Amino acid sequence: MSSSCSPTADSTFPCHQCGLCCQNVHLSRETQFLDRGDGTCRHYASDTRTCAIYADRPDICRVDRMYATRYVRLYSWSEFVALNLQACAALAALPGPGGQPEGKAVFRK
Ligand code: SF4
Repeated sequence: MSSSCSPTADSTFPCHQCGLCCQNVHLSRETQFLDRGDGTCRHYASDTRTCAIYADRPDICRVDRMYATRYVRLYSWSEFVALNLQACAALAALPGPGGQPEGKAVFRK
């Protein structure tokens, strides 16, 4: 990846680590392959509420990589972040368990 395609170092996606994207992979064609059968990702560790393969998670789970490889010519980084945050808000607005954040970090720092 060339540096010209990468977000700048200070442009980290503002993930609030709610875990809703990991618990609703059935809602996107691009993440359905991760569905363990109930809409939650097969790599989502329910006991610790974290990603069990975080270091090796697929590109679709990496906002910065998806931007650099697919969307850099379509959006600015701030526009792309805003679009992703709209998706976060839509997940949070879902009724029932899918829209109820579990309140713990999904991603290990
Ligand atoms: S970050 Fe990990 S747990 Fe979440 S959807 Fe991606 S692979 Fe699954």
